[in-house]
Amino acid sequence: MPATVLCTLDLPPPFPELMEGAVALRSLGRIPSHEELCDELRGRPVDALCPQLRDTIDAAVLDAGLPTLRCVSVYAVGYNNVDIAAATERGIAVANTPGVLTDATADCTVGLMLASARRLREGDAEVRAGRFHGWEPTYLLGLELRDSLLGVVGFGRIGQAVARRCLGFGMRVAYYDSTDPHVDGDLQSRVSRASMETLLADADVISLHVPLTEETHHLIDESALRRMKPTAVLVNTSRGAVIDERALVRALQEHWIAGCGLDVYENEPALAPGLVDCATAVLAPHLGSATVKTRAAMAELCALNALDALAGRVPRHCVNPEVWAGKAPPPLLSPE
Ligand code: NAD
Repeated sequence: MPATVLCTLDLPPPFPELMEGAVALRSLGRIPSHEELCDELRGRPVDALCPQLRDTIDAAVLDAGLPTLRCVSVYAVGYNNVDIAAATERGIAVANTPGVLTDATADCTVGLMLASARRLREGDAEVRAGRFHGWEPTYLLGLELRDSLLGVVGFGRIGQAVARRCLGFGMRVAYYDSTDPHVDGDLQSRVSRASMETLLADADVISLHVPLTEETHHLIDESALRRMKPTAVLVNTSRGAVIDERALVRALQEHWIAGCGLDVYENEPALAPGLVDCATAVLAPHLGSATVKTRAAMAELCALNALDALAGRVPRHCVNPEVWAGKAPPPLLSPE
């Protein structure tokens, strides 16, 4: 019997093509409820599960997949929706799709930054409402990026890609990271490291690029927002819950900060009350990696991770490689 791979939503090419012939591929074509996903896994054996960032993969889901489930291959770089400790305990590998979405997400971040700093959403609304009566010297003035200080929070792949782009705009760049990330020499010499306190107090633009963890949940809370400059702009393409969204709404309503550009939300797709009415918020519907090229590259990595696991190898982008240390399971697929 071929190994079985279960997707919740259909994944784009080349995912189906890579699976063809090797595995039995099933797709639910929807985001199931937690109970539906458990029932599905209990009902028919699944060897690899390819969920979306909207699927919660907790201990109950993992248990429902046992004894056959050996890999959860997430179609995303962020894996905060998967209980990694529970997967590791159960000998299930978890894999993600890092790197291939860095440029697309960095581009989206810069788009939000420009739209927010230069008040393009407010301007668009003015034009559409017939309130644009011609050029005026002080109409909708915004923040000029040249010489402004960008504070990058989380200086990994995407944070550094954003920094490179912003240096091109003539911005100064400082970053805060809780670890000592590798930074290539050419970039290292053009950026400085700073404390979170310093970034909050001094940055003209703060851009968030940390994973969502217990430590980063509400990293930007009311107190952090109150310490930012009233002229500053906040950009978030990481995960919504890194910001206390209700506090952000107050910050925008009461002008503690000048504006924000958001791609992600605390309770996606729901928004905090009042957020849609904030004129200075630019709101994108989680489009960070949404280019044809990037989604295909993610689909390829997602498939290869699952196929690695089914061939008895540690997936190439495994986030808990210790899971198979010294006791890799036998292959379910014949070697290529
Ligand atoms: P990465 O692992 O390369 O970088 C994350 C950085 O954050 C690391 O340098 C890490 O040390 C740092 N960090 C972790 N915890 C921290 C803390 N408490 N304080 C300060 N720094 C901390 O990850 P990446 O590939 O750059 O992706 C970052 C995040 O972006 C992902 O986890 C994902 O949630 C999000 N993302 C969103 C989209 C989107 O569509 N909007 C697309 C891709 C990624």
